[in-house]
Amino acid sequence: QKAEWKLLKNAKSVTADGKIVTLAANIGTPDDVLGAVDNGAEAVGLFRSEFLYMNSAELPTEDEQFEAYKKAIEGMNGKQVVVRTMDIGGDKKLPYLPLPEEENPFLGYRAIRISLDRQDIFRTQLRALLRASSFGRLAIMFPMIATVNEFKQAKAIFEEEKAKLIADGTKVSDDIEVGMMMEIPAAAMIADKLAKYADFFSIGTNDLIGYTMAADRGNERVSYLYQPYNPSILRLVKQIIDASHAEGKWTGMCGEMAGDQIAVPLLAGMGLDEFSMSATSILKTRSLMKKLDTSKMKDLADAALDCETAEEVTALVEKYTK
Ligand code: PEP
Ligand code: MG
Repeated sequence: QKAEWKLLKNAKSVTADGKIVTLAANIGTPDDVLGAVDNGAEAVGLFRSEFLYMNSAELPTEDEQFEAYKKAIEGMNGKQVVVRTMDIGGDKKLPYLPLPEEENPFLGYRAIRISLDRQDIFRTQLRALLRASSFGRLAIMFPMIATVNEFKQAKAIFEEEKAKLIADGTKVSDDIEVGMMMEIPAAAMIADKLAKYADFFSIGTNDLIGYTMAADRGNERVSYLYQPYNPSILRLVKQIIDASHAEGKWTGMCGEMAGDQIAVPLLAGMGLDEFSMSATSILKTRSLMKKLDTSKMKDLADAALDCETAEEVTALVEKYTK
């Protein structure tokens, strides 16, 4: 089986009936690009930029960040690299950036909320990214967007920094896609509105499932409620994908669910454009994709959306894949 996967390293990701999707890698450092390429990644769908902040004794400088982004972008050799801006807060803390003690850190000061408040930090990161953009194909996305105004504000700051750099004579790519993570149910509910502004969506199921089911998967007593296949989650995912397509945009998924072998047929059936996962899952998923037929997966997804429980959905998919 492993030998068969290896043969797929340079193959396109295509279903049995010829539909092409993108299989991408999630990375945490620029060095991870090697593993991504080695496992046949067609893009980096999520570069978690937190490492820059977490592996440092103080705020990383613009130049330090520039070097890291440039390395990742060059390493992908013209393939798209989606860098997510700083997602600090929640469980991720920085010793040099004391955040207030909060009763509910996951409902608190986190990610884009910090970036819009501490614009000095945000603008430094955006400048580093913009400078790195001319070395390949960069896309940027904002984490934890809940409202249209947050996206517009973040995008406006991006445009300001871009204009300043260009005015200074710095080379900047003129086709950087600017998108957002879909990981808050409120954003998913107004995906049609957000799709007018964002160039793409990337569904962060790790958080989206937790916030939708109001259940922490790390809490043993309630982890049974953390259900990726619950029809509630599937319906949100479908709504997000449809909203993006209605505006001519694309949707990826970069949460764990994107590489889940039960979820993949459903997601393909719903029309998900990009699946971003840990590099080691890519070849396995490419092999699965080859066996799937689009119209059958669409019927399967429709049936799953109409199920009552996650268990019913699992049974449906298992019956189909056997
Ligand atoms: C997610 O929430 O699904 C996601 C990819 O982001 P993170 O796991 O970094 O919170
Ligand atoms: Mg998240």
